[in-house]
Amino acid sequence: MLDFDVKFLKGVGPNRALKLNRLGVYTVEDLLNYFPVKYEDRRVVKKINELKDEKKVLLKIKICDYPKKARIKKNMTIIKALATDGTGFIHLTFFNQDHLINNLSLSEFYYIFGVVKSNYGKFEMINPEIELVANATKAGRIMPIYSLTYNLTNNEITKIVKVALEYYFEKIDSIIPEYIRKDYNLILRKDAIRYLHFPTNGKKYTIAKKTIAFEKLLIMQIGLLSIKSKLVASLDGIQIKNAKLADMLLNSLPFKLTDAQYRVINEIKCDMAKSKPMNRLVQGDVGSGKTIIAIYAMLIAVKSGFQSSMMAPTEILAMQHYDTIKEYVKLSNIEINIEFLSGSTKTKQKNDILNKLRNGEIDILIGTHALIEDNVEFNNIGLVVTDEQHRFGVRQRALLSNKGMNPDILVMTATPIPRTLALMLYGDLDISIIDELPPGRQKIKTYVVKENQKIEMYNFIDEKVREGNQAYIVAPLVDESDNLELDSAREIYEELATTYFSKYKLGILYGSMKNSEKERVINDFYKGEINILVSTTVIEVGVNVPNAVIMMILNAERFGLAQLHQLRGRVGRGKTQSYCILVNESKSKKSKDRMNILVKTNDGFLVSEEDLKIRGPGDFFGTAQHGLSKYDVQNIINDIDVVQDVSILSKKILSENPNLDGAEYINLKKHIINLFKDENIIFN
Ligand code: ADP
Ligand code: MG
Repeated sequence: MLDFDVKFLKGVGPNRALKLNRLGVYTVEDLLNYFPVKYEDRRVVKKINELKDEKKVLLKIKICDYPKKARIKKNMTIIKALATDGTGFIHLTFFNQDHLINNLSLSEFYYIFGVVKSNYGKFEMINPEIELVANATKAGRIMPIYSLTYNLTNNEITKIVKVALEYYFEKIDSIIPEYIRKDYNLILRKDAIRYLHFPTNGKKYTIAKKTIAFEKLLIMQIGLLSIKSKLVASLDGIQIKNAKLADMLLNSLPFKLTDAQYRVINEIKCDMAKSKPMNRLVQGDVGSGKTIIAIYAMLIAVKSGFQSSMMAPTEILAMQHYDTIKEYVKLSNIEINIEFLSGSTKTKQKNDILNKLRNGEIDILIGTHALIEDNVEFNNIGLVVTDEQHRFGVRQRALLSNKGMNPDILVMTATPIPRTLALMLYGDLDISIIDELPPGRQKIKTYVVKENQKIEMYNFIDEKVREGNQAYIVAPLVDESDNLELDSAREIYEELATTYFSKYKLGILYGSMKNSEKERVINDFYKGEINILVSTTVIEVGVNVPNAVIMMILNAERFGLAQLHQLRGRVGRGKTQSYCILVNESKSKKSKDRMNILVKTNDGFLVSEEDLKIRGPGDFFGTAQHGLSKYDVQNIINDIDVVQDVSILSKKILSENPNLDGAEYINLKKHIINLFKDENIIFN
């Protein structure tokens, strides 16, 4: 690997290196993997007489007259020149580029690249890029556009990448074994990297992208699958099969399980009864009744003499599970010990819980990430449940299961993922699907509205709230940074609280709030003391307030469909007709079509299949999941065929050669180990 410091690369040095570091580029390898976000096609030379307004174009011109220089402000000069390509004239203006006055020659041909403006029939270009035809490096090519920050210009990055490729091209080793590369018509890694930065044509770009996607997916998929096979191969799992308590629970439920729930429960029962550890993912749409399944499994463990635990991604959700489970258990007259642990549990209480946990006095422990801390030791944990799996990475799951001797693992997610992708993303798990909702659920009426209909919608909310209902208003999705998230929600909160909804009690909820604060707000909302809750996506999972009947999502175009579907799932939980209002501020047809899918169906699996068709698989790869960057998933891995090919191939490779022995796999293996370095169960 080219894993030495980028600062030693020619033309970089300590200052630029620092700027590159801020882009996440530390080594030459990182730099080579810092792919452009888009490209500028400068292959075609346009003629002036065929120009239209406002487009970036490449022209090949001669300067017609000596350029003129003027000082327009104390520190601003302009140079004006008239140019022609023989079919027409174009006026060029350069700001603060004094050197041009002596360098522009009347006898040379130049390429200029920039935005054309037409001013009463006169064409002009301001600050075009200009280069001599004789030694042009950009004209005639497809140029990369990188994502920029911190005073690094696109030109700088382009140059640095070029240098890196010049010096180290031959040192870029392939990761994909030669025979696979040939089978799938891929290209060498060094060529793929070069063409992703500097594609010479569309075909080269496509194959380069496919090669890199293939490579990244192969690393991830083989890693996940081999974790799975290692888990399955370990024989010292535990057998858990006493379902007596669990069946008591079912008998006392006020409702009958759906067929899908029964099927999944049986799959789980079978897994648990085996001596090999269970590794099962339960996928079920919002409201399909996953909680009861988790409780069922935990009760089997308890009755068989083991402890079990359930981890949820937010304190709110964990607390809700804790309450639900206590309620169910009470209902069935089952006497067991259930405790709750989170980051905000007081020290004294926490120590008490930890002690009891070690002694085996606690049967079921519900909580947040706090459950994976080092000091949490179980007496004999037999089952680990994680809810809303998409919020946790493989690593966190492994940490929790490492607390016992290969306990059974059950993970649950409400993010419906098309089957083809699920195999890929959860390659280390068996999958159960609850594809049926309990009977009698009402369809949530979904509307897509434009920005200028917002007020109308506020009136609608007003009407509903006056009747005693509650509503959510979700603030636009902003950057992941907490501050921005807060600003966005707060701005809307303040605007609404002082205008349209001044007569109601409004609440605000966002991620960086203290846990106790969050809980208080949710509780107030639950009790009806808050009428309208302005929130960020923190309410996406789990929150259950049946009296809330309206979900309004601002700037809905910024969200993925799956996420919108999750948010919508916060309403429609009671008996009253519920509504979801998507405010679409984008004018594109694509965006409208996308949202109309939500209007048409309430079925999460259909939604995700459609999302897959429209947006490609990128969105389904949670960034926290598998060491793929947001960029990777959005720009590189967007071909479902590649995902499927890799999925099938990975299984085949591992079944024939579980340890990836042999020289051809050395590099691949190195990268897999590096990606999953936190797992101790990978390879021998
Ligand atoms: P999710 O799958 O989203 O976690 P929950 O487990 O929270 O769903 O269940 C949603 C609601 O549906 C709960 O109030 C639960 O009691 C109820 N429920 C679950 N299963 C059934 C069923 N078979 N029939 C009727 N209601 C059910
Ligand atoms: Mg749930």
